[in-house]
Amino acid sequence: MDGIPNEDIKRMHEQSAPTSGAASLRSRLTLWFGSLALFTLLSAGFYVGHIAIEKMTAAEGAAMHASAATVANALATGLREREDEIYLLSRSSRLASGNLDAVEVLQSLERRKEVHQEYAWIGVADTDGTIVQATGGMLVAQSVRERPWFKSALKERYAGDVHEAVLLAKLLPGHPSGEPLRFVDFAAPIVGANGQTVGVLGAHLHWSWVTGLVEDAVSGRRGLQQTDILIVDRTNHILYPERLTGESVPDTSPAQHLDYEVIHWPDGRDYLSSEVKINAKTHADLGWRLVARKPLDIATRPIRDLSGQLLLLGVLAALLFALLAYHLARRLSRPIEQLAQAARQVESRQAMPQFPTGRQVREIAQLSQSMQSMTRSLLAKEQELAAINSTLEATVIERTQALTEANAELARLAAQDGLTGLANRRRFDERLTDAFLACKRYGRDFSLLLLDVDHFKQVNDTHGHPVGDRVLKQVAKLIGESLRATDFVARYGGEEFVVLLPDTSDRTTSLGVAEKLRAAIAAAPVAEVGHITASIGLSITRAADQDPWQIVGRADAALYQAKAAGRNRVSMAPD
Ligand code: GH3
Ligand code: MG
Ligand code: MG
Repeated sequence: MDGIPNEDIKRMHEQSAPTSGAASLRSRLTLWFGSLALFTLLSAGFYVGHIAIEKMTAAEGAAMHASAATVANALATGLREREDEIYLLSRSSRLASGNLDAVEVLQSLERRKEVHQEYAWIGVADTDGTIVQATGGMLVAQSVRERPWFKSALKERYAGDVHEAVLLAKLLPGHPSGEPLRFVDFAAPIVGANGQTVGVLGAHLHWSWVTGLVEDAVSGRRGLQQTDILIVDRTNHILYPERLTGESVPDTSPAQHLDYEVIHWPDGRDYLSSEVKINAKTHADLGWRLVARKPLDIATRPIRDLSGQLLLLGVLAALLFALLAYHLARRLSRPIEQLAQAARQVESRQAMPQFPTGRQVREIAQLSQSMQSMTRSLLAKEQELAAINSTLEATVIERTQALTEANAELARLAAQDGLTGLANRRRFDERLTDAFLACKRYGRDFSLLLLDVDHFKQVNDTHGHPVGDRVLKQVAKLIGESLRATDFVARYGGEEFVVLLPDTSDRTTSLGVAEKLRAAIAAAPVAEVGHITASIGLSITRAADQDPWQIVGRADAALYQAKAAGRNRVSMAPD
């Protein structure tokens, strides 16, 4: 890890932590596939539906126009025939003779009416407008001078717009449905042999004949099912059918040279509309138009139904795609999820995790294998590291112990005199300070003995230093053996020793101990040297002492006295 900075490791940890709220691969793929399929299919569906509706409208419109043209032709032919018929009758020799009240004239009129049921009335009027003869004897002797047909037909052939019966209303049987009787008028001048107009031939045709012509032409035409066929006059008013009579139509002439157009009609609906002029080629142009219209929603219903089905199919297909995507995503994501699980197990240092085989996808199989081998080597390295760690710990404990021991030995050596094995001067100084503080604080008085071997220089000079050393060792041993465990002895320097007697302030006791020491040394001969002696200075703590060296000073002074007094004796500092 030496080469990777701490911040990088922290970042790696942050990145490896699973983000809460992150969607799984599986749901993500399913959502994407499903949405994509839905979007594609719906867009295609809407586009196809739109095109289909346009095409259907065009086809319907063209078919409607063709059918309307056929109906218009049939109507035009019927009107033309009736006009021709009246014209030919007006030119018949019987009428042209000018004898309008001849019985043959009436017979001729009646025959016409018999053969053609559509005639409601046929009659002849003289030039003054008085009816001379008429079928059923109706209106005879009455004046039609003001009737448009009469006025026009004095000059030329006439074909007139539909109108309600005026004079005949009372004379003819009414319409079964109660509707007012309505007629289309045809009339022609009766021209005599000399070229003079002698009268007018007029005929009223039942309007129902016209509507019958339309209905006959329409019936059975599949292209006109659910289509309204309207007859419109030149003033844009509807003549037929009855229920719309009188209403006016919007401008139905198609734009852009099309045969049809979608128009918004006054009833609030959109209609596919087509218009054909009824070209009757009558002498006087009626100016009628035939308008076919079909509600747009009905015209395009099959396509809209189909669109609806397509839409449903699209949604179903999208669901199917989403399902397929889910399965595919599951197949793909399962090994990845297993890898993620294995990675978490590795992270939490569980036993060797189960890695997926990932047979289906080569890259996942490779990734799985790589992770497996990485994990193996990682765990092996970790174990190795743990083993090294534990050895290291044992070594550290061992070394620490050795060091502690060495330190203790060093401390011991630092406080010990090398020759005699007694405490050294440094150690004595510490003990003296401690004892003095205890004395001051708790009133624990003590006695101090300063012991000096007599004439030791001579020993050295006579027997040599090694023998002198042996003398010192023996003196040390003797002192040690003569004292209590609580007493303290140290080599003060050279051939001088110092003894602390804690809690001892009694002169007699202190003197007793000093005397015992002196006697023990004097009594024990040293090999090669013989008997040796030592002098001892004794002092006891005083309340007035300011520092421990005052006590040492008094003992030293007492020792000097002992020496001066002849050696091998104990001298005590005065109280
Ligand atoms: P006094 O009776 O007045 O004490 O006379 P002394 O000869 O004992 O006193 P002095 O101070 O003249 O001599 C002490 C001698 O002790 C001098 C020194 O060489 C010797 N000495 C000091 N330390 C050691 C030691 O560790 N080993 C040996 N062998 N001799 C030592
Ligand atoms: Mg000395
Ligand atoms: Mg001496």
